[in-house]
Amino acid sequence: MAVTGSPELLIVMGATATPEQVDEVVARLAEAGADAHVTPGKDATVIGAIGDRELLATLPLEGFPGVEQVLPILKPYKLVSREMRRGPTVIEARGRRIGDGYFGLIAGPCTVEYREQTLETARAVNEAGATMLRGGAFKPRTSPYSFQGLGIEGLEILAEAREETGLPLVTELMDPRDVEPVVETADVIQIGARNMQNFTLLAEVGRAAKPVLLKRGPSASVEELLMAAEYVVREGNTQVILCERGIRTFERSTRYTLDIGAIPVLKQETHLPVIVDPSHAAGKKELVAPLARAAVAAGADGIIVEAHPHPEEALCDGPQLLPTADFGHFADEIRALASLMGRVIG
Ligand code: PEP
Ligand code: MN
Repeated sequence: MAVTGSPELLIVMGATATPEQVDEVVARLAEAGADAHVTPGKDATVIGAIGDRELLATLPLEGFPGVEQVLPILKPYKLVSREMRRGPTVIEARGRRIGDGYFGLIAGPCTVEYREQTLETARAVNEAGATMLRGGAFKPRTSPYSFQGLGIEGLEILAEAREETGLPLVTELMDPRDVEPVVETADVIQIGARNMQNFTLLAEVGRAAKPVLLKRGPSASVEELLMAAEYVVREGNTQVILCERGIRTFERSTRYTLDIGAIPVLKQETHLPVIVDPSHAAGKKELVAPLARAAVAAGADGIIVEAHPHPEEALCDGPQLLPTADFGHFADEIRALASLMGRVIG
């Protein structure tokens, strides 16, 4: 359900509250001219009251049967906030899960270059235990003279790789004009770092019936990332994965600076799963494993990593691509660490 106003108040219904008691609160809100956004949860149903804050404060909601607590939502992000949903959100695509203890190991080429390169990578990461396949058909390139991706043909190759391996596909949507083919083919729609604040695109994927992987912009704060996620969830799509992929700092020894601190901060602030892209942060393949390990140890719900059968021949991001020959060892190490952190591969 799309939300048209800003949820200002949270009404937490006790574990034993009946559906009728929830309906009574919703009806009282409607009577006062306010809307309700109901989120059923494992332990409690939470009602977000949407309307004028001052007016809402005058309603005797605490006295309603079944109501446990009434709290103002003080943060600028509402629907994605921890307060809104007590339990963690789990994202599901073709039976693979991320969040609430399920660890996502997403791997694949940076870019779909040609059929064999993509199929070979997909087979290798699948054999090594990846849970989803990544790969860009539409590529955001810094230079207009660089390879821009195969577009629709790339989507077809990815679909073939999924057909063969069974791995759900994560692929980027860059342009609202490509919504139809990308949403149809993707199992998870990636919104790249450069488009994190493309609000029209965020609203588009908010109306899609597929999960969204939202990458943090290189110069975006954690709060801005959460506000971007709020744009998606507000349209009705609650299946959002957040991704820390490194931010722009003065440091040049890595491509970006992986903001490890953002992981526990995000876990504190939101119920959405948080994953990490060590590849784009590192910019160099030998730094990918240490950053990935740090991400798992900091509590990430998954990682998204780039691999290629012949990185030296790659058309995009060559220096940071893990050779598929090394991917099995990398995956073993990540799996062991994830299990140490109490996660199961999703
Ligand atoms: C990617 O994952 O393919 C990509 C381009 O990453 P980012 O948007 O984080 O730069
Ligand atoms: Mn890349």
